[in-house]
Amino acid sequence: MTKKIILASGNSGKLREFQQLLSGCGFDVLPQSDFFSESAEETGLTFVENALIKARYACIKTNLPAIADDSGIEVDALNGRPGIYSARYAGVDANDEKNNALLLQELSNVSDEKRTARYHAVLVYMRHAEDPTPIICHGVWEGLIMREPRGSGGFGYDPLFYLPSHQCASAELSKEEKNRISHRGKAMRELLEKMSQLARD
Ligand code: IMP
Repeated sequence: MTKKIILASGNSGKLREFQQLLSGCGFDVLPQSDFFSESAEETGLTFVENALIKARYACIKTNLPAIADDSGIEVDALNGRPGIYSARYAGVDANDEKNNALLLQELSNVSDEKRTARYHAVLVYMRHAEDPTPIICHGVWEGLIMREPRGSGGFGYDPLFYLPSHQCASAELSKEEKNRISHRGKAMRELLEKMSQLARD
């Protein structure tokens, strides 16, 4: 028998990824839009808090277990900014282009060795709204912020995110390679392992 889980996100790409990941261990992942249309206010100050807020909201609205994610980039020379505000770094009308332009501007006087940064992806699974022990998975991906964009793949900050291990920007990786080594790929595999365990218990 399959177990219904809500994905607390409006992103159809994410829905497909989670469905593929979890169908093998008996979970049927449904979009929150099947149940409600508004989104939870992300009032947390950490990726974990915001992911839990989104998952808890979906549990309350649907009376079903829920998965949620939160991700972003932490830049050391900016004291960790943009962090949880990565999507809206350049303001209310931010988009990838404006965010990347602002990042380059803020780092214009920062030397090469101080341009260290990392992506974070947090995935959480809550059995119900009052679950005191949610599953929390955290993937990290280290890199450097370049001085100009490279590549046309990926999204967000990928054209500026340099991988010393691959000597290219994350926007120059294939989708498969990015999945294999990225923060999100790591967190997804950790979630799969923990949820497979849950399905066996
Ligand atoms: P959210 O997790 O959907 O709220 O998005 C967080 C933001 O972090 C995105 O809009 C991007 O700006 C940034 N981000 C998260 N993961 C990636 C990635 O893999 N590549 C590029 N940017 C990312």
